[in-house]
Amino acid sequence: MENLSTTCVIAGGGPAGMMLGYLLARAGVDVTVLEKHQDFLRDFRGDTVHPSTLQVMHELGLLEEFLKLPHSRITRVGIDIGDRHFQFGDLSHLPTVCKFIAMMPQWDFLDFLAGKARQFPNFHLLMQTEAKDLLAQNDRIAGIVATGPQGHLQIRAGLTVAADGRGSILRDKSGLKVNDLGAPFDVLWLRLPMQPGDPVDVIGRLQGGQMFVMLYRGDYWQCALVIPKGAHDAIKAEGLSKFRARLKAIAGFAADRVDQAITDFDQVKLLTVAVNRLEEWARPGLLCIGDAAHAMSPVGGVGINLAIQDAVATANILGPVLQKGVPKFSDLKKVQARRMFPTRIIQAFQLLVQNRFLEPAVLKSDRTPNPPWFLKLFDRYPLLRRIPARFVGMGPRPEHVKLAKK
Ligand SMILES: Cc1cc2nc3c(=O)[nH]c(=O)nc-3n(C[C@H](O)[C@H](O)[C@H](O)COP(=O)(O)OP(=O)(O)OC[C@H]3O[C@@H](n4cnc5c(N)ncnc54)[C@H](O)[C@@H]3O)c2cc1C
Repeated sequence: MENLSTTCVIAGGGPAGMMLGYLLARAGVDVTVLEKHQDFLRDFRGDTVHPSTLQVMHELGLLEEFLKLPHSRITRVGIDIGDRHFQFGDLSHLPTVCKFIAMMPQWDFLDFLAGKARQFPNFHLLMQTEAKDLLAQNDRIAGIVATGPQGHLQIRAGLTVAADGRGSILRDKSGLKVNDLGAPFDVLWLRLPMQPGDPVDVIGRLQGGQMFVMLYRGDYWQCALVIPKGAHDAIKAEGLSKFRARLKAIAGFAADRVDQAITDFDQVKLLTVAVNRLEEWARPGLLCIGDAAHAMSPVGGVGINLAIQDAVATANILGPVLQKGVPKFSDLKKVQARRMFPTRIIQAFQLLVQNRFLEPAVLKSDRTPNPPWFLKLFDRYPLLRRIPARFVGMGPRPEHVKLAKK
């Protein structure tokens, strides 16, 4: 068993873990990030980089270079219900440097952050290294037990951060209590080819009891079909041709590509949706952030944003302590005290949308739903579209980088 030691060990190289790793390394803290996959080319997140995340990149002096990466920009958000299009978000008036959502695959975002973090000699990124358990010492978490390409390793640290996402193993091992808030749907994740003349956009469609979202990814569409929770096996059992017919009914202009593109169920990935949160985000020596502390559903496309905001708040609160020594339990609790409010608000919004609208109008119906009153309102009065734009684009209690570079 190899033994390593560091000031802060972070399990998970997703948005929360990579951003925290970068911010701490930039402030001179010795930090080690473990990512279980060998690269960031994973497809289990959306592609949204929100105005508040772009603001953080601006505050870090990284924005200009970041925006040179291929991306598309969304300033207006809408949805098609049956044959009608409803606009409900207008980001063009946000008080942020970027008044748009940058649509960029998460692996480009994470590769970029990793590249910047690697410039600091005190940043260590261990790819293909999976956290398996917590190390405990004198009633305190003292690091992580992991397996990597060279076998088992123990990493001792003054602070252990679980940023290992909605299936967090460290959260399970910690014994911290999770409150499950329920999610009545899962997502089938698949690709359809782009064709010349396609719009460069995010497309949301609701029709005949189905919901379909298409994310523009340059040379293909990343698509999400919303299905009732647990329905995946039954859909597979119905066979490929029924599944293709289901897709064709909802894919709009891309329906003509379904037969050619979907030839096997292996091309269709099930992404399980969960909405939950920890009662307590910390134990002495251990802090959970991002989806490990509060799993977010795809509703509103805000989970990545919230994970980044957690990372910024954590760095602001704990960075100065880590520069001098080991944070106390009371320091760790300050992170939850700061971030619980936005988490509650955003999850309440996600639950409202999924339980009051998605469940009755899509998951338990086979008809095209009547547009809800609030969509009609936003569509009719353009000024009102600034409200959802602010909620989704910036979120409640946006964080700013306070931890200085060393
Ligand atoms: C179907 C679906 C679509 C979504 N679409 C969007 C969207 O469009 N926009 C949006 O903002 N949010 C979206 N979300 C929510 C979003 O994916 C999460 O809220 C966000 O990714 C949380 O970031 P995170 O860093 O906390 O965790 P994650 O992004 O899950 O990252 C965790 C990382 O930890 C690694 N890891 C896991 N276990 C270990 C281990 N034991 N050891 C080491 N590494 C480990 C994983 O490989 C991963 O890289 C979506 C969610 C779902 C389910």
